[in-house]
Amino acid sequence: MRNKLYPWQQNDWQQLQSYVKQHRVPQALLINGALGIGKLHLAEHFAYALLCERPELDGLSCGKCSRCLLVKAETHPDFIDLRPEEDSKTKKQKTSISIDQIRTLIEKLSLKPQFERHRVILIHPADALNNAAANAFLKYLEEPTERTVLILVTHRMNKLSATIKSRCQKFTMAMPDKNLVLQWLSQQTNNAEIVFNLAQGSPLLAQQYATDEHLTQRRDCFDAWLSIAKQKSHPILIAEQWLKFPETTLLFWLSSWVIDLIRYRHQVVPKNLYHADLQVELSDLAARINSIKLYEFYDLLLQSRRRLETQINKQVLWEEILIAWAALNRS
Ligand SMILES: [Zn+2]
Repeated sequence: MRNKLYPWQQNDWQQLQSYVKQHRVPQALLINGALGIGKLHLAEHFAYALLCERPELDGLSCGKCSRCLLVKAETHPDFIDLRPEEDSKTKKQKTSISIDQIRTLIEKLSLKPQFERHRVILIHPADALNNAAANAFLKYLEEPTERTVLILVTHRMNKLSATIKSRCQKFTMAMPDKNLVLQWLSQQTNNAEIVFNLAQGSPLLAQQYATDEHLTQRRDCFDAWLSIAKQKSHPILIAEQWLKFPETTLLFWLSSWVIDLIRYRHQVVPKNLYHADLQVELSDLAARINSIKLYEFYDLLLQSRRRLETQINKQVLWEEILIAWAALNRS
């Protein structure tokens, strides 16, 4: 539990500590910011620190006191970690936090905290509160119990109701400093720069992309995509081969290749490319592609993202996309 904060989180931590030092810990704190920058990690450490009997000098929890041990054992009565439940059939985490979960929570909150320190409720992701749950929750926020701190975490502020946002103190984590992230990534991979670009600066995403398998698969799919553009491979054959890849990853690669192509079309020196390491092939492709058709193709990818959430036949989906891609390159 006492694994340290990420190197780019020092300023955020100082700010959270200033709340503690000034005895101004908000009753509802909404931690937001981009995906993959460690918001939940920061929120958890803040929660542990608020519960700890003897925090360290830097404000982090000690990891040794009786309260910290209760947190470790997941039996601390004043710490509630609220997330969407697991679906009993599919074993996957549901997408929303139910009204029943909130009712149970509010019932518990009507009692005083057991210990003399704070009681902490961590809600993650906060955008998983559906309308009914959010309404029940708002009633509680009107009359919160003493010494109780709610920490909500989200990277999708636009999915949160305006009323919830207005009742919480917002805490926005900025994108981490590039040098710090590159340094951190270089300790884990030889491809720090490549995965940093691929994740557009998000360190934890970059860390996920840093496996050899991920980068090799990206390269293989890119080569196949290029060979369709050159009319050297048949879209239907490639569509069949692509069934073995995770579809959201594949769709992300396709969309980001197209975004890079659009950047090449519109900027003299393209900035913030996702695939800077593929620039020779991408700039070559961009030079001979029709811009309007490229935007149409991008639209098709956006629609496909929505269709993936339905029970669509994946083979048909990839065929449609790749046939459109082949046609675009013939025109
Ligand atoms: Zn402690």
